[in-house]
Amino acid sequence: MRLAHIKLAGFKSFVDPTVVPVSQDLVGIVGPNGCGKSNIIDAVRWVLGESKASALRGDSMQDVIFSGSDNRKAVGRASVEIVFDNHLNKITGQWSSYAEIAIKRVIQRDGNSSYYINNLPVRRRDIADLFLGTGVGGRGYAIIEQGMISRIIEAKPQELRNFLEEAAGISQYRERRHETSTR
Ligand code: ATP
Ligand code: MG
Repeated sequence: MRLAHIKLAGFKSFVDPTVVPVSQDLVGIVGPNGCGKSNIIDAVRWVLGESKASALRGDSMQDVIFSGSDNRKAVGRASVEIVFDNHLNKITGQWSSYAEIAIKRVIQRDGNSSYYINNLPVRRRDIADLFLGTGVGGRGYAIIEQGMISRIIEAKPQELRNFLEEAAGISQYRERRHETSTR
């Protein structure tokens, strides 16, 4: 499954609607300090349901909304949409037949977040369910953050098993079994 593009508006330094195309041969994003490279990664993390402000380098979740600059006023909402190419039908279930899967999250100043899949309102956990077993998502390995390599190297056997189960695509079954047995 391939990430095709990332759309941001009002998110951190990306106040104006911006589309970041993710071509198949993209190797890296370069630019001067503070130009917004890490903000793009934060956007991907955030749209996938990140709920810890500290993981996005902020104090509260509203910190992701553009807070103004010397010549621009702050805005009232932030939105990020990421679009995946699903031609290989890696996504199973309800959305499997869609050629493109667009995941969107919007936050208002009051702190409320709403989530959408292909423009239909969904719950946060629907986004997590969609990606279980694909390696994408909160507990996936699609984003390797600073310190993660050493976390894997130093992982206890159970933690290492979690990484392997996600990579093998079986964590979704464990998750569902856990849900069934705790209901
Ligand atoms: P480096 O090369 O130093 O890692 P970078 O390109 O990764 O830099 P980012 O951390 O993505 O830079 O961007 C930091 C910039 O984003 C700062 O200028 C900061 O003021 C701005 N920024 C972050 N959050 C907001 C916000 N809520 N509103 C406005 N600007 C913001
Ligand atoms: Mg950075």
